[in-house]
Amino acid sequence: MSFDLEQALNFAEHKHCRKIQQRTENSRKKRRVYYESSLINNVSSHVSDELSNVVSTLTLNMNTNPESTDKIVHDCLSKVLFEKDAQDEDNIINLEEIQSNTMNCSQVCKNSFDNLELSNDSSTIDEVLLHCYTDMSREEFCSTLLNILRDAHISKSHANRLLSFIRSTFPIPNAVPTRIEQLLEFLEIDNYLLKKYMLCTICNNILSCSDICCLKCLCSDHKCLAVVYDMNVEQLIKKIYIRLKMDIDEYREHLQTMHDRDETNDIGITIDHNHRIDVKFLSITGDSPALRNILNFIGHGGYFCCNFCYIRGQHIKRKRQYFYEKEQVLRYSSTYDKESAEAEKTKEIIYGHKGTSILQNILDTKLPEAIIIDYQHASLLRHAKTTRRTIYKQLNPSHRRLIDIKLKNQCFPHFFNRRMIPFKNLSFIKAVELRNILLYGFLPLSYEFMNREQLAHFTLFICSIRVYHSQPPMFGRETATIANRLFEQYNKDHKKFYHLIQNYVLHLHSHYGNQYVNYGSLANIECFSQEDLLGHISSNTHGTRYYDDQIVHYYNIDFSLNNRVPQTKYKIYYKPIDLDTNFIIDNYSIIIQYHNRICKCLNTSKYISIYRRCIIRNNTFHSLLYKRRTKSKSYFISYYKSTNNNEKYFGFIHLFFYCKDTTYAVIERFQNMHKFSSLFKSSSYFDLLKKPLDSCFSIVSKEPSDIFDIVEIGHVIKHCIVFDIEQCLIITEVSAYHEHD
Ligand SMILES: [Zn+2]
Ligand SMILES: [Zn+2]
Ligand SMILES: [Zn+2]
Repeated sequence: MSFDLEQALNFAEHKHCRKIQQRTENSRKKRRVYYESSLINNVSSHVSDELSNVVSTLTLNMNTNPESTDKIVHDCLSKVLFEKDAQDEDNIINLEEIQSNTMNCSQVCKNSFDNLELSNDSSTIDEVLLHCYTDMSREEFCSTLLNILRDAHISKSHANRLLSFIRSTFPIPNAVPTRIEQLLEFLEIDNYLLKKYMLCTICNNILSCSDICCLKCLCSDHKCLAVVYDMNVEQLIKKIYIRLKMDIDEYREHLQTMHDRDETNDIGITIDHNHRIDVKFLSITGDSPALRNILNFIGHGGYFCCNFCYIRGQHIKRKRQYFYEKEQVLRYSSTYDKESAEAEKTKEIIYGHKGTSILQNILDTKLPEAIIIDYQHASLLRHAKTTRRTIYKQLNPSHRRLIDIKLKNQCFPHFFNRRMIPFKNLSFIKAVELRNILLYGFLPLSYEFMNREQLAHFTLFICSIRVYHSQPPMFGRETATIANRLFEQYNKDHKKFYHLIQNYVLHLHSHYGNQYVNYGSLANIECFSQEDLLGHISSNTHGTRYYDDQIVHYYNIDFSLNNRVPQTKYKIYYKPIDLDTNFIIDNYSIIIQYHNRICKCLNTSKYISIYRRCIIRNNTFHSLLYKRRTKSKSYFISYYKSTNNNEKYFGFIHLFFYCKDTTYAVIERFQNMHKFSSLFKSSSYFDLLKKPLDSCFSIVSKEPSDIFDIVEIGHVIKHCIVFDIEQCLIITEVSAYHEHD
């Protein structure tokens, strides 16, 4: 026994020594290579070699045959994962070694990236001056001009006209490029991103773009010839990674320290640069037809169509209904795999599975946890829309008109780019507009007109989504539990108020709680940015032809321009902006009084400066002094009076003033009145609704109270949306900020 142990220890020690030897040898080699290469002044080539090594472990081969692509990705990933495991086992021998190893790795990496940044810099410095009467470089001129051209959406031909005009006004000789192609060349933006070629879809033969028929199978039908824009994914990931390195590093730090205060795990894809870039596939999302296809699952409306549980569904009047079930039987990942494999083998549908999913071997998380329900489709575009259409039909016509007018005229903070759309136009509505109605507008604007018990029931749903959506989490660690409880009750009683709309999307909401625990707030899960990208692409075309080439051309330029911007570390800003020099402070005795309490300086008008706007936690707030706010309302806010007072107050900001390194907001307060939940006192849902409802909505006096509060800007909480009701105002805070970007 003791002999065995001794032997094992010896072995481990021996191994340890060998490893250290190996490592010093390696780093010596590395240093030597670096030294030699820098001697012959060839840093950049050495570094790029090293980087291509870094990336080459993940070979994303753009193969035309989908099966083989899958296989390659799968092989690589499993290899990557396996290697990691093996390495870990090795390292168990000595804890010290693990630590020194990781330190060593990060050291090497840091070095290589420092070099990389260095080499990047040196390659982009363009010493040529624009002309001899300026110290502006050609490079600076070109990149500024290109940015302007892109922002102004100027087409290629007009850009060329502009260039030749600028050139003609400059002294000769000058270095202004003659054509846009030359400008791109100066900036070293070449068409590396996408390569264009033609493909015969019948025999997979690659043709050149000028060919009109396939030389191999002699097919000449233009519908069989596909134009392909092929992308070097490896290059792309490399560039994106270098650009976002700072953010990624910060996220990794969070991951390593597991600094996840609210336990929501909402940290995305990990890209790790220790020796290679590992791309982890966290999850899959989409609307339900897309998910059905990629997951090889039965479509919504079928029996057992829920990916998360074994709800069967009932067939009633040619519609499939999924009624509330007290005890859900959830699908576990082991049975999920087993059943999909069985379906694949037997070619039969097994509890909704039609076979294995092509994602099964790609995802690094297990199915079905890897599936994210897209709340914009499920909650906004489907369930909320259906329910509201039903409610709208129940209202009498004069009330419908009144609500529509109120919806149309409602003001929002300036960063809400869309107002609410009247109910009658519901078929053209966008997800963002539906979100604004559901989260903010519906309840305050319709409570006068609706049956109180039915509204209380729908309020369960509104509050549930508000709580799931809130950022920061409205009730800390209890957030998901509270939101889920609200939805359970809503789902249970749904049949009391609505007939035959208890469909699959309604059922899906019962899995939001689990999803919240895995992925965090609903505001994180969105396709709005993709919608923006599509809109951006469609606005990038000029004329009526060659859209494909134009889109690719501009995408390429934008990508390169983006990569040229030096990255700055993400910081949280507090800063007054928009100085008002004409403001006469002597008219505001309240400011002078307050100032004299906190500060000794005598000449107030000299030391206090007045501002019209202010950036607080990276969001811009307006004051009443700011006159260019048009119809937006970004001066109505919620705030705390001091650090040790937890009560929330509401009011509008008259102005910001700055003195002695501190910015203050001068706020006129609106008196808090009865709780919003008191409107539902007679409802059977009152107890359940009280806490979340009063956290979302408040009632204040219609007119300001003439009480002024002066608070440090750190005490300002959020922008508020104000609804003007007969004898009072209903106030609600903005739920989450980053979704509006
Ligand atoms: Zn062919
Ligand atoms: Zn389910
Ligand atoms: Zn002062």
